[in-house]
Amino acid sequence: MKIGVLALQGDFIEHVHALRRIGMDSSEVRLPQQLDEIDGLIIPGGESTTIGKLAIDFELMEPLRAFGQDKAIWGTCAGAIFLSKDARREQPLLELMDITVERNAFGRQVDSFEVDLDVPALETVAPSWSPYHAIFIRAPLIESVQKDTQTLASLPDGRIVAARQGHWLATVFHPELTSDDRFHLYFAEMIRTN
Ligand code: GLN
Repeated sequence: MKIGVLALQGDFIEHVHALRRIGMDSSEVRLPQQLDEIDGLIIPGGESTTIGKLAIDFELMEPLRAFGQDKAIWGTCAGAIFLSKDARREQPLLELMDITVERNAFGRQVDSFEVDLDVPALETVAPSWSPYHAIFIRAPLIESVQKDTQTLASLPDGRIVAARQGHWLATVFHPELTSDDRFHLYFAEMIRTN
């Protein structure tokens, strides 16, 4: 099993390192034909408008949409925005996952913060419960999810920060910037059971 990381812009190398830590084979994806060699794809954090523009330039939009029809995709932060159906503004989106996101939802002043989250779904890959320490950097929010989309984590005030719809996963924080690899393990399991 091999997991690709979209390597157009953003912190893709940190995802590659996390995948290495969990013993997973990975590859950087920049060309459409590289999608044929992978079983699942991570879209990293960065700048969603830039990732979208580069995906158009690299002729990746349709190949990514086709890949996502039956293969697992995980978007982190900007990647979650790019994976969504709606960011309530004009920008290139894959429009796969049935979520509406609000970009830069935490404003400019408090644009980065860390918080412990309760993520029960992670118990499937790491049985002993402990909070998940999440890093938010100019993060979006998942404003709303559709009926077949499961909320995996919320802030204490109820705002959604991680969700799953079948073989699509969205986290608005950055698991690749911590040494807690449970989300990478969780995504690997999603691919295995897809
Ligand atoms: N603010 C970025 C965007 O809107 C996302 C930030 C991130 O990926 N850390 O695309």
